[in-house]
Amino acid sequence: MPPIFDKPTVEKYDYIVVGGGSGGSGTARRAAKYGKKVAVVEVTAQLGGTCVNVGCVPKKIMWHAADLQDKIKHHARGYKFDGGVQNATFDWKAFKLQRDAYIRKLNSIYENNFSREGVEYHHGRARFISPTEIEVTRPDGVGTYILKGDNISVAVGGRPTMPSDAEIPGASLGIDSDGFFDLEEQPKRVAVIGAGYIAVELAGIFHTLGTETHLLIRGETVLRTFDPILQDTLTPWMEKTGVHLHKQTLVTRVEGERGGPLTVHTNRGEKLEVDVVLWAIGRHANTQGLGLEALGVELDHKGDVVVDEYQNSNVPGITAIGDVQGKWLLTPVAIAAGRRLSNRLFGPDKFKNDKLSYEDIPTVVFSHPPIGPVGLTEPQARKKFGDANIKIYKSSFRALYFSMVEEEHKEPTVYKLICAGPEERVVGVHIIGMGSDEVMQGFAVAVKMGARKQDLDDTVAIHPTSGEELVTLV
Ligand code: FAD
Ligand code: NDP
Repeated sequence: MPPIFDKPTVEKYDYIVVGGGSGGSGTARRAAKYGKKVAVVEVTAQLGGTCVNVGCVPKKIMWHAADLQDKIKHHARGYKFDGGVQNATFDWKAFKLQRDAYIRKLNSIYENNFSREGVEYHHGRARFISPTEIEVTRPDGVGTYILKGDNISVAVGGRPTMPSDAEIPGASLGIDSDGFFDLEEQPKRVAVIGAGYIAVELAGIFHTLGTETHLLIRGETVLRTFDPILQDTLTPWMEKTGVHLHKQTLVTRVEGERGGPLTVHTNRGEKLEVDVVLWAIGRHANTQGLGLEALGVELDHKGDVVVDEYQNSNVPGITAIGDVQGKWLLTPVAIAAGRRLSNRLFGPDKFKNDKLSYEDIPTVVFSHPPIGPVGLTEPQARKKFGDANIKIYKSSFRALYFSMVEEEHKEPTVYKLICAGPEERVVGVHIIGMGSDEVMQGFAVAVKMGARKQDLDDTVAIHPTSGEELVTLV
């Protein structure tokens, strides 16, 4: 077990990082690499933050399980795998144990990395008492001590937003995405509320693994901030595959017993009988109780720390990275911003202006099938460049894989390129379909480098793949 610190080891640290998640670890380890004395304060007993413990990693593992279920149940027969393979059942309980064990392994890898690289892990709750002092309350709540440093980074991430019982009676009978990862048994029936990343991903996992899944959305489509082609492809596909999509729907009341069957009442007069209600209506920053307001650190109306392009807050010496700064709540963004911040603060001269560009950030929604966007959506591009300066290339097809699969299970693949100006610079790529999660990374490089449509045309296709469609669009 690597050392966990419970008091300061120096009078003053070069760098104190509050939060041992993606951003906090990224920035702390980079600073230590430059020989700086670094302390990370983390309130939980598990390093790695949201992504490792209740986010990307366990979610993607569940997505793989669901994907496999889809292949076994709906695709294997087409490939002439017989002998009852389609009747294989998924053991949620056993799988959760195995998944949890893997996450614990990742936690220790984080601890070992800190230990090897000389980053001190202080296990406790941090609170600012001055711009250069952090009070750490030990986990048992009985003791406190002070860490001092001229550079302090806030990397406390966020938490799921839940409506209060005053807003929606019985709302607290539901769980959030953290609670999803605690479920010991696969529920038979769930109601997922929300239309963003988490709602789509978790509803997809439940449904694909065989849970009766109700998805309650306020609008007509899921992922309303994404390019229309993605919304308009995924929404009907989810319905076609059997997700019970309740559009224009708001929950008015939840009734029942904690842990027991629940009744969800909606504005449309529906009464849904389910075992689990899961709220996925957004997240908010963990800035409450951190002492930032008392120091005059500017927070926005949601409680996110307002930062400039270099991650500086308005109080000298206090920076913020990752979800707590409210832009692009993604692990690689938190890590990249954290590393660049340490480059700028502690690295060689060539890095003195280092910062993360928040332009053209690629992302993936692990839906079934997955979605990958980078750059501007079509409405954003039309607004920015004008209709006359935009050219759209589209392709809609069935991946070769599905040629052997029954018609009703052939997933859609839809690709869209958005090009701007006479040189047809690619300003947006939006794809949905099997493998989109893996296809996207390379195209994100191209967009970041300012690729033109001609550059894609000049790239020889890889055959037979789905990705080749993006270099052969006419
Ligand atoms: P976090 O990783 O949340 O770390 C913050 C840390 O600060 C936590 O460990 C917390 O305990 C600690 N902390 C908070 N307050 C204090 C305090 N007062 N004192 C001490 N410590 C404190 N992103 C992707 O890129 N890909 C995905 O597939 C993906 N899937 C996701 C799935 C789900 C269900 C969720 C919820 C998120 C997902 N994300 C995904 C988002 C990703 O997890 C976050 O963007 C990322 O973890 C943010 O990193 P962070 O360092 O800002 O915060
Ligand atoms: P999102 O912001 O993605 O989506 C929340 C959605 O919930 C909103 O878009 C809104 O959709 C709907 N909503 C908001 N308020 C209400 C309400 N009161 N009642 C009903 N619906 C409501 O948040 P998530 O919680 O899904 O995820 C948070 C962030 O975590 C994401 O933005 C993403 O950055 C990150 N994440 C990344 C993942 C990945 O990289 N694959 C996976 C999971 C999370 P509408 O307006 O259409 O109603």
